[in-house]
Amino acid sequence: MISRRQVLQALGSSVVLAQTPKPNIVFVFTDDHAFQAISAYKGRLKLNDTPNIDRIAREGMLFDRCIVPNSICAPARATILTGQYSHRNGVPDNRAVFDGSKVTFPKLLRGAGYQTALFGKWHLQSDPTGFDAWEVLPGQGSYYNPDFITPAGRVRKEGYATDLITDRGIEWLNSRDKAKPFCLMLQHKAPHRNWMPAPRHYSLYEKTTFPEPDTLFDNYENRASPASKNEMEIDRHMRLPMDLKVKEPGKDWTFMPEYQRMTASQKAAWETAYQGRNDEFARLQPKGKDLVRWKYQQYMKDYLRCIAAVDENVGRVLEYLDTNGLARNTLIVYASDQGFYLGEHGWFDKRWIYEESLRTPCVARWPGKIKAGVRSKAMVSNLDFAQTFLDAAGVQADPGMQGRSLLPVFRDGKAPAGWRKSFYYRYTEPGEHNVAPHEGVVTDRYKLVYFWETKEWEMYDLAEDPRELRSVYNHASYAKVRKELEAELERVRTEAGAPKS
Ligand code: CA
Repeated sequence: MISRRQVLQALGSSVVLAQTPKPNIVFVFTDDHAFQAISAYKGRLKLNDTPNIDRIAREGMLFDRCIVPNSICAPARATILTGQYSHRNGVPDNRAVFDGSKVTFPKLLRGAGYQTALFGKWHLQSDPTGFDAWEVLPGQGSYYNPDFITPAGRVRKEGYATDLITDRGIEWLNSRDKAKPFCLMLQHKAPHRNWMPAPRHYSLYEKTTFPEPDTLFDNYENRASPASKNEMEIDRHMRLPMDLKVKEPGKDWTFMPEYQRMTASQKAAWETAYQGRNDEFARLQPKGKDLVRWKYQQYMKDYLRCIAAVDENVGRVLEYLDTNGLARNTLIVYASDQGFYLGEHGWFDKRWIYEESLRTPCVARWPGKIKAGVRSKAMVSNLDFAQTFLDAAGVQADPGMQGRSLLPVFRDGKAPAGWRKSFYYRYTEPGEHNVAPHEGVVTDRYKLVYFWETKEWEMYDLAEDPRELRSVYNHASYAKVRKELEAELERVRTEAGAPKS
């Protein structure tokens, strides 16, 4: 015989269950955003303020050691969707076409009743699958008046890419079925090269002199040969016209594809804004190290202007969640596809296993589920995002996924018992910038790197040498550590299912 009290208790618990809807997921994702350019990270140099991204960190968690398995654009996107390493998901480099029939976390969420949408940079060449709504930039996309590929064909929209992608996301949020949970992926093109700011930010940082990283004039000594063969130096490889908007004398702006996309009034605003830089260059005529320093300053101005628009648009999303009563039950994650060099080692770009490109920014907020204001040192990865989103939604992950749910880390930011202590890295992109293919293993303190084409090794002790300027691979005092790392590299490579090169 069931008592009245038991019936009420049973009813009560089902009422409680019905009042705990599945969480919404908002994933705001940028391209090439260095953690050094997020004020919440409090890097070695104070470069800029990102109040809205910082707000996510303050009300949620900042991941200090979010490691990418392959520091390059398209592979990062495929890894996030599939929860798999590049050598498993079919996108090892920017040339590969993503197989849309693969299992992805948005598909699994959709199968469990979520509404899913992706807007912005896709970069995987095939059409997106697993989304109720999508609009993506073709390839790298454009900053100004960009084209979007939509299920109904290609459209061009007037405006600035970062704003337009957010506009579309908010429009979709307004039109969604409000009875269902949602997963929204807002994937920005910014701040990818060649760093074209929104017109409202043309004069931002005009009078600012940015601090220089102390490795701006790195000479690549005490390392294996690949670093010295790079083609990503501000000095030798950053182009004055295309990257820094310094015209050749007597030329107009038509050499820039972005300029060709502008309306007449946008062109006029652009010409007015960037003539000052051209005049300054003509007046100063910097040479040698002065030229590198001058280029670095212009690079920072444009790069950080692009970040300013990103941060404002993060603010728009946070405000939408606030004003629509969604903040409490939404997991919002802000991340980039990898880190980026802002003059460290004299570089721009990414690709290397070295810290600035290995570590991607990641901040996450989920009130009541993620402890607020914590800076987590746990070794996490964008490989973990798929399983994290699925776990948050109470949906079973696919057994082929290779990451881990971050929900246990969300509790207090500490690595739970049995958490990974090392991570496998593998880069095989044959593209520009001449970065030799390499693999490696990363621990809290050490990094072992193997460049298989030249059969060269490097090893870094981050506690003694955080800027990674001195390989200790051949140092006798590190012989024991080296042996352990060599065994660990074998172990994590096998665990990741990667080929031995
Ligand atoms: Ca990228």
